[in-house]
Amino acid sequence: MVNIESLVRKNIWELKPYSTARNEFSGEASVFLDANESSYNAPYNRYPDPMQWELKRAIAAQKNVAAEQIALGGAGSDELIDLLIRTFCEPKQDNIVAIAPTYAMYKVAADINNVEYRKVALNAQFDLCANELLRVTDEHTKQIWLCSPNNPTGNSLNRREIVKIIEAFSGIVVLDEAYIDFSEHKTFLRELHKYPNLVVLQTFSKAWASAGVRLGMAFAAREIIDVLNKVKYPYNINVLTQQHALQHIVQHDDDVKTWVKNLLAEREKLRAALISLPCVLHTFPSDANFILTKVADANATYRYLVSRGVIVRNRHNVEMCESCLRITVGTPEENAKLLAELRSVEPKEAQ
Ligand SMILES: *Cc1c(COP(=O)(O)O)cnc(C)c1O
Repeated sequence: MVNIESLVRKNIWELKPYSTARNEFSGEASVFLDANESSYNAPYNRYPDPMQWELKRAIAAQKNVAAEQIALGGAGSDELIDLLIRTFCEPKQDNIVAIAPTYAMYKVAADINNVEYRKVALNAQFDLCANELLRVTDEHTKQIWLCSPNNPTGNSLNRREIVKIIEAFSGIVVLDEAYIDFSEHKTFLRELHKYPNLVVLQTFSKAWASAGVRLGMAFAAREIIDVLNKVKYPYNINVLTQQHALQHIVQHDDDVKTWVKNLLAEREKLRAALISLPCVLHTFPSDANFILTKVADANATYRYLVSRGVIVRNRHNVEMCESCLRITVGTPEENAKLLAELRSVEPKEAQ
């Protein structure tokens, strides 16, 4: 039903990718004089593996998928978001459909690529209606973008509606699972074998506690991953990142579980404490590591917190998030400091 060739931009499908020295010979040898590298300063003198097989095998084992089903982004998921749009969408001709509100990078990447971005508002509970998204698609819609748990709302989208979109849409469905480790809902990685048009995005930046490392992951059927690999920069994951990520997976697999468990306990404590404050009108349920919080006056509260050295994300100007701050769950000490400052914000004073 889904024909990947017909979805990929024609010039990309026909592209003969750059062939690196490391593509043309990868095997055992003792003398490498093929890539104009320096012979000093090992191991950083050598170009990294362009396909990152060792790291992908470790991720594959961790996530229970095949290494061939993984593409990596060396500028985080942000790189993969751009890569997906650039590979499939013809500028000034194709469009993508996305939920609103959601992560702002999808629209930025569409705008950079001159690809029309069609947004469909979530309902009052910030949940998804498959039919409404499907209704705005046309023959030029190459992708539907979903994010679950969603940013900045924090909730998970209804699974049946997600499935309905994947099954009914003949283009690519990108499901961003950046926050999935904080959620009780199951990842769609287990469904990849059923859906040749599904791309799942995950990242090292959130539960894996490595935002500074910049490593994003795309999981999909091999046919999609093969095309992405043709388009990506040849050495897009540097040696330092590959080494660090590999070591992190090996050393911190159990730690990540502990960190997530602690964070979830802290999230529920923070949410209860926030609701009890005079300036807080509402906290939205969260499946992520942040809490969307409605206050009496978001701009004034944001400015006050800044003046006290506490930075949260002001989402007042985001559709459906009027008067809302997005607050990341921090350490118990950081959360206590935030709460202490918010306690002195009077509801009327702020208005
Ligand atoms: C934080 C976040 C990401 C992660 O982006 P990186 O570039 O990998 O740091 C991706 N998607 C969403 C929705 C996010 O909130």
